Amino acid sequence: QSPPDDLLLQHLNPEQRAAVTLPAEHALILAGAGSGKTRVLTTRIAWLLQTGQVTPGGVLAVTFTNKAAKEMMTRLSSMLPVNVRGMWIGTFHGLCNRFLRAHFKLANLPQSFQILDTQDQLSSIKRLYKQFGIDDERFPPKQMQWFIGGCKEDGLRPNMVEVRDEETRKKVEIYQLYEDQCQREGVVDFGELMLRSYEVLRDNDPIREHYQRRFRHILIDEFQDTNKLQYAWIKMLAGTGAHSTADDASFNPTGCVLAVGDDDQSIYAFRGARVGNMADFVREFKVKHQIKLEENFRSGSNILDSANELISYNTKRLGKNLRTAQGPGEPVRVFEATSDFAEAQWMVEEMRQLVREGMERKEVAVLYRSNAQSRVIETALFNAGIPYKVYGGLRFFERAEIKNALAYLRLLENPRDDTSFLRAVNFPPRGIGLRSLEQLQDVARASGCSLSDAVSGLGGKAGANIGAFLAGIDVLREQTSGMKLSEIVERVLEHSGLIQHYKADREGADRVENLEELVNAAESFVSLENFGRDAAALPVDEQGHALTQSPASQGLDLSQPVLDEPVPDLETGETQSPLAAFLSHAALEAGDNQAQAGQDAIQLMTVHSSKGLEFDCVFITGIEEGLFPHENSMSDRDGLEEERRLMYVAITRARKRLYLSHSQTRMLHGQTRYNPKSRFFDELPEAALKWITPKHQGFRADGATYSGANSQGYTGARGQFDINYSKFAAAPAPIQKAAPAHGLRAGMKVFHAKFGEGTVQTLEGTGDDARAQINFPRHGVKWLALSVAKLTPVP
Ligand code: ATP
Ligand code: MG
Repeated sequence: QSPPDDLLLQHLNPEQRAAVTLPAEHALILAGAGSGKTRVLTTRIAWLLQTGQVTPGGVLAVTFTNKAAKEMMTRLSSMLPVNVRGMWIGTFHGLCNRFLRAHFKLANLPQSFQILDTQDQLSSIKRLYKQFGIDDERFPPKQMQWFIGGCKEDGLRPNMVEVRDEETRKKVEIYQLYEDQCQREGVVDFGELMLRSYEVLRDNDPIREHYQRRFRHILIDEFQDTNKLQYAWIKMLAGTGAHSTADDASFNPTGCVLAVGDDDQSIYAFRGARVGNMADFVREFKVKHQIKLEENFRSGSNILDSANELISYNTKRLGKNLRTAQGPGEPVRVFEATSDFAEAQWMVEEMRQLVREGMERKEVAVLYRSNAQSRVIETALFNAGIPYKVYGGLRFFERAEIKNALAYLRLLENPRDDTSFLRAVNFPPRGIGLRSLEQLQDVARASGCSLSDAVSGLGGKAGANIGAFLAGIDVLREQTSGMKLSEIVERVLEHSGLIQHYKADREGADRVENLEELVNAAESFVSLENFGRDAAALPVDEQGHALTQSPASQGLDLSQPVLDEPVPDLETGETQSPLAAFLSHAALEAGDNQAQAGQDAIQLMTVHSSKGLEFDCVFITGIEEGLFPHENSMSDRDGLEEERRLMYVAITRARKRLYLSHSQTRMLHGQTRYNPKSRFFDELPEAALKWITPKHQGFRADGATYSGANSQGYTGARGQFDINYSKFAAAPAPIQKAAPAHGLRAGMKVFHAKFGEGTVQTLEGTGDDARAQINFPRHGVKWLALSVAKLTPVP
């Protein structure tokens, strides 16, 4: 091995090394959580490049999130002196978007097509219902959204769906209407990105053959969660699909596929994922290399035994082993709370302690089964002044004010985008009434055109008002042409009146802040396609090949150019505008909240979105019957097994410390529930667990009392159960009795901007950790972090 190879391979165990250095043939790595699958995949790319077996342009890698794609790009560019820009690394949706932008004409889309996220899609469907008077009780829009998504995942256009009954016939009809509407507006939903790019490949031989020749190595992470269409797409690119020209003797399929996955972590069956793709892959690609990785590098054996024992209750498994070379590590801590509120308060206490002992906040994750659970936790963190960041849920780009701003930006790119048109036309209010818009929609329907095109056919005051709005957009488009992305965003925020609107709103301060954050997001935005373009000039030739003198690059065959977007039979050179790239990014962003990236904050997310990630400390909350396993999945065995896999994913995110908690009562969807603790507790090895709930907690079901009265009881409990926190501490923090610097005393009256006047009841901690329990007559008892909360003494 040449020295650079050793450098790449030295951080691998022998099984991993064998996987990384496999010959260029199809392979499947089937291995449990934390066994280094993702590391192997990344290193394999680096090794292939390093040894000159492939050029950056010949690599296609599919990751589960955009965040993972970025990490991979960063890792690769730090490992190797190559320009990684030519590589196609991203999520399925991201890659399909890139593909469709390059081939928009063949795809029958406007170049500036916009992407509908889930919310947009639903409002688009609802708009359709209004227009055609569709009964939304018989065909609930959400259900229709699932139906459409399901069809697309199976590769089915409306005319391909098998119609067996009247209900399906009607649904297919709505599906068709929806398709027509999207096409007219130049928008695509997530499912469409995938299906459309699949169809372009299927129906255009030169394009398909081009990409088949180009992508020598196709690597897919989290393969267990691919759906039918995604698998078909991979097959097509690898050159063995049913529509490939495999029967043409001159065609030589060159794509070499490495699939990496874990059947026990398949958690998207409800959305069409097919674990069976693994078996199909092995059969259809005649996979010779099946590699197992059996060493877990992430966690100690208490955590790992818990995961292994739990998952052993599933019957449908391919069977794998997982061991760890690390010792037992800390026990898995189990906590029973009296209420969801108390559960959150307890977590806050633990987090404080962890942070005091030196743990970084971003290394602490709180996982929950359903998004609705996050609110109570967020409130507790907020009141405690602990920075946190929520993944998923209402993501940055899904907030109303951000969507309003994006609607304007999208209209700059594509005036035919009716969803954006309707969002922006009367917001901020400009006196354009519902009736006018209905009239406009009638005109548009009658002439089969977009709303903006229909304006000229609308007379009177309504026509004039809407016309003025559109003229404003046109002016803005002209003014901003050639501007830097962040300047465009800034200009649009001003010109649209959004900033003024929210500034005038008493509750609008947060929204203004978010809008300003959008400018920052635009400022720091780098699309994956442009990754590294501006980075310190790596020596590359014009085709993006590395020009370093490594043994690898000397072996490269530079006579075969691999351009970034070489498109046969199409005029090339048309690249996406930065604004268009930014808008795609906003729609595709899967939970990575760019606005707060880098901040040291506690990480909150659903178990689903934690897949592939790892943290030093993980809290899994609300482990109760009905919640986890979820009530919708408890009744059938498949559903229950998927819940158990979810629990397996959750447990295996933890590196050092794992907390499991459940609560006797919980407010959910406006009701108090009394859920028994989850059956999953019975499936964990008792020896790995440590129950940290005090026998007599001394606090009542209304959590306020907990935070009010029991800091004592709690500390007592900690002493009693002897939890070893010192593991994380560089030096254990002694409990200081220094004089408080904040000058507050119990009994003092204070004023808080949000909660008004209150009385200090208890004070705790010093310095940054100082906090006060304050009784606000209007808002109840709160614990406030004094380093954050702004309190003024009231004389
Ligand atoms: P998941 O199933 O959760 O996606 P995975 O199999 O992809 O997990 P990785 O995320 O690649 O596992 O690796 C888990 C952790 O172990 C990472 O922190 C990684 O850096 C580390 N790791 C992987 N291989 C090794 C190794 N040979 N030596 C030391 N650490 C390793
Ligand atoms: Mg992984």
